[in-house]
Amino acid sequence: MKLEIKDVSFSFDGKPNILENMNFHVDDGEFVTILGPSGSGKSTLFHLIGGILKPDQGIISLDGKKINGFKGHISYMPQQPSLLPWRTVLDNVLLGSELAGIRDKEMAKALLLKAGLEEYVKAYPHELSGGMKQRAAFIRSILSQQDLMCLDEPFSALDELTRLEMQKWLLSVWEQNRRSVLFVTHSIDEAVFLSDRIYVLSAKPAAVIKEVKVPFPRPRSEEQFLSDEFLNLKRELYAALKPTLS
Ligand code: ADP
Ligand code: MG
Repeated sequence: MKLEIKDVSFSFDGKPNILENMNFHVDDGEFVTILGPSGSGKSTLFHLIGGILKPDQGIISLDGKKINGFKGHISYMPQQPSLLPWRTVLDNVLLGSELAGIRDKEMAKALLLKAGLEEYVKAYPHELSGGMKQRAAFIRSILSQQDLMCLDEPFSALDELTRLEMQKWLLSVWEQNRRSVLFVTHSIDEAVFLSDRIYVLSAKPAAVIKEVKVPFPRPRSEEQFLSDEFLNLKRELYAALKPTLS
């Protein structure tokens, strides 16, 4: 599924623009990351794509079909895992697919196994660690059958090691599914490790100030972190981000 954002501007009730003439796209099966400072409008952008908010100007389209203000086209994984406390882990991950009228228990169990959560299938969210909750929330978005997954800083609350494990796990699952992914983060390392392409956002009002292709082959590994090419790309992104961090 191809996402296109064309000349999109948005402000909250006549306040100054949060997004200004934003342009970018995610190709079918591509992993694209938006890298921007805190408060630059990344979550707002997701609310626009998800149809919770409507742009003042411009067009948001999926495979050429305008979806401004329409809900239900994407699977959205918010910053907080937001599992329902009264549902078991299995029933939580099946939630998105239930809404779509499908309930694939076997697929859900297979993904929970791959996520190391097989012992927690019948557990409740409060029995899970932070990383486990994130994995469950991610499985829920995979199962929700939408072709575009929007992930809003899903690992920002995790410690560094858990975060690296989660990134590797995310890539291994994604490489089998190859959905289009739009990922949001303020971490340069995370953006370079995960993505096919990266867009850098300016500070408010947010617009795309830089686009880079990430040339590293997949499957990705930590060893790539140490290559000169990786460091050069990080430097380039840092130089682009620096003026936005006032
Ligand atoms: P990010 O996700 O990049 O950290 P957000 O999209 O959450 O940024 O917020 C961008 C800007 O929009 C912030 O300055 C924030 O204060 C403002 N903002 C977010 N939600 C609202 C709202 N409901 N009403 C008014 N301003 C808002
Ligand atoms: Mg945010």
